[in-house]
Amino acid sequence: MDLAAAPPAPLTRRHLHVAGDWVDPSSGDTIAVENPATGETIGEVPAGAPADVDRAVAAARAAFPGWAATAPAERAAYLDRLHTALAARADDVARTVATELGAPLKLATRVQAGLPLIVLRSMVELAAEPVAEQVVGNSLVVREPVGVVGAITPWNYPLHQVVAKLAPALAAGCTVVLKPSELTPLTAYLLFDAVTEAGLPPGVVNLVPGTGPVVGEALAAHPDVDLVSFTGSTATGRRIAHLAADRIARVALELGGKSANVILADADLPTAVKVGVGNVLVNSGQTCTAWTRMLVHRDRYDEALDLAATTVAGYRLGDPFDPATRLGPLVSAAQAERVRGHVDRALADGARLVAGGPDAPLPSRGHFVAPTVLADVHPDSALAQEEVFGPVLAVIPFADVDEAVAIANNSRYGLAGAVWSADEDAALAVARRLRTGQVDVNGGAFNPLAPFGGYRQSGLGRELGSYGVEEFTEVKAIQR
Ligand code: NAD
Repeated sequence: MDLAAAPPAPLTRRHLHVAGDWVDPSSGDTIAVENPATGETIGEVPAGAPADVDRAVAAARAAFPGWAATAPAERAAYLDRLHTALAARADDVARTVATELGAPLKLATRVQAGLPLIVLRSMVELAAEPVAEQVVGNSLVVREPVGVVGAITPWNYPLHQVVAKLAPALAAGCTVVLKPSELTPLTAYLLFDAVTEAGLPPGVVNLVPGTGPVVGEALAAHPDVDLVSFTGSTATGRRIAHLAADRIARVALELGGKSANVILADADLPTAVKVGVGNVLVNSGQTCTAWTRMLVHRDRYDEALDLAATTVAGYRLGDPFDPATRLGPLVSAAQAERVRGHVDRALADGARLVAGGPDAPLPSRGHFVAPTVLADVHPDSALAQEEVFGPVLAVIPFADVDEAVAIANNSRYGLAGAVWSADEDAALAVARRLRTGQVDVNGGAFNPLAPFGGYRQSGLGRELGSYGVEEFTEVKAIQR
């Protein structure tokens, strides 16, 4: 099928999904959806209100006892049907993400549409196998679903972030109210089309689109929400933790990152740099786990900068639907402006431009930023400390392994990271010293069953795999 030529999925939606039905929102207010590659408005969704959140939470609360009591095999069967229904919509998901986010269609197909299906498949299997009970002395330790989950998600991997919450929550026996990002709300609608087709019981999952300050706050502060599962910026995560603290509700927070890619002197440099640059540029740099600080041994530093510049030159910016495009726009004008500001500040702080930068050529319209490599970035400077969330790589030299580890850990974040060395034991030893939730050694592949989450201001809790299901459970000890 020629995806680029296929008609798009609906880009305007008028309803919320509450208690198993598409229902009218309480007000006629709407949110415009933009195509960031053109700057044009392409559709709209309802701007939900607190009254809509009340209604959706009430539906999730009413559905909770029944869903929690469902046998694991039955929950797995529902998730399996949801997987089938979502898989049938994979082309629509890819084209919708290419349109509302600007992700190149190839990436949108492989990752934005493909990864949620992989995660959902893993949750079918985990749902069938309930979290094991444990005997501790005279106690039987059991896991129970935590209750009603409020899920609040960002725009960068719009469907993946939703499925990474919704599927394990359902597997654990929880019910859910989802608020997707107002910048990219449309793939959540495709998921709820699949929910309808899969015949999930009414109220088990509910959708209320809207803005963060209105729907997000109402959900995070709602007295009948037992756990708020949030992915987004550290600033919003802090606000959500405050709102939840008022009623001692649980929170799971997947937040920002400033991850280090440590390239030791004996590494396969061409591979390490090529993969490292690709990791930063994928999704136009709008990836929380991006290895945005490349730390290179002094002996290989100049060679690494040349390789980085050559790699960046191979990235073509443009129309997400053009097969030759490797880099799309940023999600919004505001985001592009913010990223350009980071580059300007880094240059003013003394960083050296190796590729890209403010004067690099760009497509004539859309929110594009040139892929940019900056060398000699001071480890304490703003560029090395702040999350940019754009296609910008900071390169920093180091003299020995201890200095590399010190620079890597000099961050308030701790989400991901990488180490490269011809000596795998040496790389593993460095990986163990990094204060971060995930580390890839010599390009180790993404594992959808591995726990995913951050240290320090990168968050609280873990998603994916069995750890992701446990996140949605309470622990009970029964003494006999
Ligand atoms: P954001 O924090 O601006 O928004 C995320 C979500 O929170 C959106 O749905 C938004 O509407 C909502 N929100 C905003 N203000 C709110 C409030 N006061 N109360 C409740 N909800 C509110 O983040 P973003 O710009 O959408 O996403 C980018 C950020 O997400 C980056 O910092 C990135 O690192 C992070 N992120 C983290 C992960 C991870 O797994 N750790 C994954 C993807 C993105």
